[in-house]
Amino acid sequence: MPTLHHCIVLHGPDLVPHRCRRFSWSGDTLSAIDLDEPVSSLTTDGPGALVVIPGLYNSHTHMGDSVLPDGATGLTLEEGFFRPNGYKYRELTKLTPETHLPHVEAHLRYMARTGTVCHLDFREQGPDGARLLRKASDQTGVLSVILGQFNQVPFNLEQLRANRDAFNPAARAELDELLSVADGFSESTMNDLTDSAWRELRDVTQARGKLRAIHCLENEGYRDLSVAITGRGDLIRAIELYDPHIIVHLTVANSEEIALLVHARKTGVLNPRANANLGLPLPPVAALLTAGANLLLGTDNGLLNSPSMLAELDFTYKLAKSQFGDAIRPDPTTILKLATSNIRAVLGGDHYGYLQQGLPATFAVLDFRQPHLRASRHITASVLTRVTPEDVLATFREGRELWRAPGFDVS
Ligand SMILES: [Zn+2]
Repeated sequence: MPTLHHCIVLHGPDLVPHRCRRFSWSGDTLSAIDLDEPVSSLTTDGPGALVVIPGLYNSHTHMGDSVLPDGATGLTLEEGFFRPNGYKYRELTKLTPETHLPHVEAHLRYMARTGTVCHLDFREQGPDGARLLRKASDQTGVLSVILGQFNQVPFNLEQLRANRDAFNPAARAELDELLSVADGFSESTMNDLTDSAWRELRDVTQARGKLRAIHCLENEGYRDLSVAITGRGDLIRAIELYDPHIIVHLTVANSEEIALLVHARKTGVLNPRANANLGLPLPPVAALLTAGANLLLGTDNGLLNSPSMLAELDFTYKLAKSQFGDAIRPDPTTILKLATSNIRAVLGGDHYGYLQQGLPATFAVLDFRQPHLRASRHITASVLTRVTPEDVLATFREGRELWRAPGFDVS
């Protein structure tokens, strides 16, 4: 039975660091976690320790465009990413599956190498796009929760302005095919479909037990266009018409919109590095945490960012501290939960996002024996701010080895 001896484990849903005599797994399950006392820091003159954390969840990606790293440099959100003619969509149509797939797989492997076990992907290119990502996920073992979108927006501008039409039969057929491959549905903005289409999407996905996701309030334009066409902002329309499981961005959410999100018990997914990279405002992390929102974290487009949750956690922790305006809030564990145990409210099932005997063997091993980590005075803060990809020794999802550093033995 593979075992780590005398390590430190961030244990349970509250991710409390404990010394651990024995950490073992058998098949896909954590078979023994023999804990000693809680521990928050290492000693100045000690050898350090291996630190075991839950496998990380990246709750918002577009790995399809990881084939174009930094391709949208110098482009606005609209020029780079909007349908139908944004840079991303133009470039994706030029690829064949043979040229595309190796890039997606390489980035999924990079995720594993940086401690990530699962990502929620807003996949472009309709059913074929979903199938391509499924292949990459099967090859690499990193679980892709695929939220597909139509290959082309199924309404023209006139129809969208009139906001009356339902899906035509061809769009409906594409949706049925998409949902037979994907785990759910996503769309760029509420302004890409009619109200009637959103209601139909909610009913169809509900009947088939699929997830629903949407980007909202990434910039003021999302809200303004929605108000101009329908008289209501994009967030309230999303909640009332479409009932999404996750709402991504919330970059410009005001206090009323934050209250609306919390009241509706919706999970928000923040992507502060992507927002910053596009010259947009930064999301109100402190206000959302204070309001009690369930939050997750994502790296967004492969085109904009490396899919490393280590980088996203570091940026988000410091952003939140700056917004709180003191040196105390938030507790580092609150931020680590955005990539771990907060996922349970959305995915449920075998997705816990934390470590406990009898739960899935889904974890990453960090090398706190390294000179820059072995004297950490706050282990969780150091996980957020100092661990680099080179310090990730192994990543396992349900007992399957996704990454293991050369020379690191777990048998
Ligand atoms: Zn996105």
